[in-house]
Formats: sequence, C-alpha cells, structure tokens
Amino acid sequence: MATATSHSTDSYRGRFAPSPSGPLHQGSLLTALASYLDARHAGGHWLLRIEDIDPPREPPGAADAIRRCLTAHALHPDEPVLYQHTQSAAYDRALETLDAQGWLFRCSCTRRQLGPGGACGGRCADGATAAAGPTSLRVRVTADFDAFFTDLVQGGQLLQQEDVPRDFVVRRKDGLYAYQLAVVVDEAHQGITHVIRGMDLLPTTFQQRYLQQALGLPLPAYGHIPVITDTTGRKLSKQNRAPAADLARPLANLQQLLQLLRQPVPKADTPEALLEAAAKGWDREALNGMTRLVVTQ
Ligand SMILES: [Zn+2]
Repeated sequence: MATATSHSTDSYRGRFAPSPSGPLHQGSLLTALASYLDARHAGGHWLLRIEDIDPPREPPGAADAIRRCLTAHALHPDEPVLYQHTQSAAYDRALETLDAQGWLFRCSCTRRQLGPGGACGGRCADGATAAAGPTSLRVRVTADFDAFFTDLVQGGQLLQQEDVPRDFVVRRKDGLYAYQLAVVVDEAHQGITHVIRGMDLLPTTFQQRYLQQALGLPLPAYGHIPVITDTTGRKLSKQNRAPAADLARPLANLQQLLQLLRQPVPKADTPEALLEAAAKGWDREALNGMTRLVVTQ
C-alpha cells in the first residue's frame, strides 16, 4: 500500500486546480473563489495546482495568465504552486503500485472498437488480444465498487451499478498520464482534505475514489458547486468562447461572483478586504442541491 502523504489531515487543505488550456473566465474564477472562501472560512489552507499534463492542449503562457488573474483578484495560494508536469515520477510510482497489485491491464483497442463511454469492455482484460502497437493502461473495476458518497453540496450520490465502467484509462496510448490518475496522486501529495469544484466533474469522483482506495490513499471530502450556464443550459466554457475575466475590474468581478454564489456582498474598497469579509460570511449551504447558475447574457 502506498503512503503518499506526509501532511496532517486533521486541518482543512483545499485547492484550485485549473488546466492551462486558456485564461480563466467567469465560470472558472467562480470555482476558484468558492474553493478559496470555503478553505478560508474553515481557517484552512488554499493551494494552487496547474494541471499541465496535456501539452497539445496548452497554449504557451496560459499557466502564467491564470496566475496573473488569480493574483489580480487577491486569490493568493498559501504554498508554492504545484505543476503536474513535474510529477511524472510520482505518477509512475502509482502505476507501479497498481500494477503490482494486479489492477492494470494493457488495452490495444482502437477508438472504433471501444464501447459506450470509452470502455474496453473486457476485450483486453484477459490478455487474449495480442498487445500489438501502442497500448493504453486501464484499471480493472471490480464488482464491489464503492458506488456511494456524500457530497458536501449535492448530498448523497449513488452511481447506478449498470453505469459503473468495468475499466478506465490511467495512462493513455500516447503515453500521457490520464487526468484521473494525476488528480488522485496530487490530492494526496498536497494533503488535500476538501475538493470544492464544478458539478461537471462530479461523475469523475467515482473513478477518483476508486483509485484512492486501490492505492490506499486518504479520501478527501468533495463538494460540487453549480456551474454557470446560459438560458439554454449550455455550460460557460472555453469551448463556447467564454470571455477571459477582465483583470482591470477585480473588485466588480468578485462582487458579481459572490452574488452568483448566493452570498452576501460585503462593502469593501479592495479585493483583499472583500475576500476577508466574504470568507467570514461564507455559507456553503446556500448552494445546497443547486446544479447550475443561469446567466442571462
Ligand atoms: Zn481494449
């Protein structure tokens, strides 16, 4: 069993973990703010992790732009930033641990051969297919999959057994580490106790908890906050050209985001003063059960 964390887990350690695929927009800044306020309200630490494990999708300078945006909004992390591109050795160790315990198999399926949800469907799991050409590494998902957890914002979550994938990728065919593996290793590495993030990531929690248990890592608490959508339900994202947050008006941006988060908006002259007061008054329960925040323009 791996013992990947040296941090005490009796105090709150939260994080914001963007992938540097572009500048922060209103939606990603909302998640940053919520995770920051939740940590500060609890008297905890707030860390920043740049999830740069997919170089083809990362425009040059995006990570620096994210850090400038957070700084402009007075969202200062308490410890040095962790860049996932520096963590390859830790990811390899986790893969070795999984492999040594018989969790992994090589999959040579082409995109067309894969079933619904990208599952290999056991075609490769018994080793019957010759692993010719590039292979991905997949984790076997056993029948005693722990399909229930209680979300801090959304309440009890039960993954239906028929929706449980029988396997999922931890290292891609192109050799890049899968998001699920990197996230799980780094939550433990940074001693994260509370993960506050967008609703869109809720389904990945099952895979992450599965890996945490397979690796013998601590299980953080998860809280999935609503995502910003337009009136048609479409999520605000880089893909649908959400504009970058305006660094010239951080105070106004933060006030607007607090309103969206159903929080009181304290009077303040600076982002620092606003955040300090907002952290005191932060009430996560105001978001209970909400899955989206509709913005009309
Ligand atoms: Zn396969």
